Amino acid sequence: MMNKEMIYEGKAKRVFATDHEDEVLVSYKDDATAFNGEKKGTIVGKGVVNNRMSNYLMKILEEKGIPTHYVKELSERDTIVKKVDIVPLEVIIRNKACGSFSKRYGVKEGSELKCATLEFSYKNDDLGDPLINRFHALALGLASEAELTEIERLAFLVNETLIAYFQTIDIELVDFKLEFGRYHDSIILADEISPDTCRLWDIHTHSRLDKDRFRRDMGNVEEAYLEVYRRLGI
Ligand code: UDP
Repeated sequence: MMNKEMIYEGKAKRVFATDHEDEVLVSYKDDATAFNGEKKGTIVGKGVVNNRMSNYLMKILEEKGIPTHYVKELSERDTIVKKVDIVPLEVIIRNKACGSFSKRYGVKEGSELKCATLEFSYKNDDLGDPLINRFHALALGLASEAELTEIERLAFLVNETLIAYFQTIDIELVDFKLEFGRYHDSIILADEISPDTCRLWDIHTHSRLDKDRFRRDMGNVEEAYLEVYRRLGI
């Protein structure tokens, strides 16, 4: 497994080839970016928290029948995952208004929604990941109708499972982003589930335990990641 070719380097992870053509090794970094790469920094220990947390949650999701890319954790920062062809859509689920949703629709952060909601962004750094609807995604050939339907079904299932799980550790799941991939003939959950990709609020104090602390220069960024990690008990 040593000295394998790096096939991709992203903002927060590096991806390496393995001896198995259907699998890749993902290595989590401490580098943090926000606002499409405009803001850069380091969150010490983030790679470890995100790797271990994501793996732990993917295992819970697998138990609920949701297919994921998770294969095997190799070390605190490295994991073997199934090699997928990523569907170029960010799938965002919201349980309460926050962030870009609050801004776009003029609703206070933390306001209740009548129901959980889903939106897509087109994964394209040059364009700044613009909001995209189902028809546009189909028209651009980003995914098929059957794939979009399956992605939506799985995303809401992930939401139900994660809401229930986070409740047990006194965390409210405000919103989160998922990415899906094609693996052979099916759609599976890929990428990560971590404080980088979720808004996690303490149930009692509403204190933010996620990347908003970095995005908004709120301080105690490392402490927030570690607090989530501590509550997971892994
Ligand atoms: N998110 C993400 N990556 C992105 C954009 C958003 O992981 O490139 C997550 C973000 O952490 C939040 C949710 O998706 O949990 C909704 O983000 P929003 O659209 O409100 O964007 P923001 O306010 O961060 O610009």
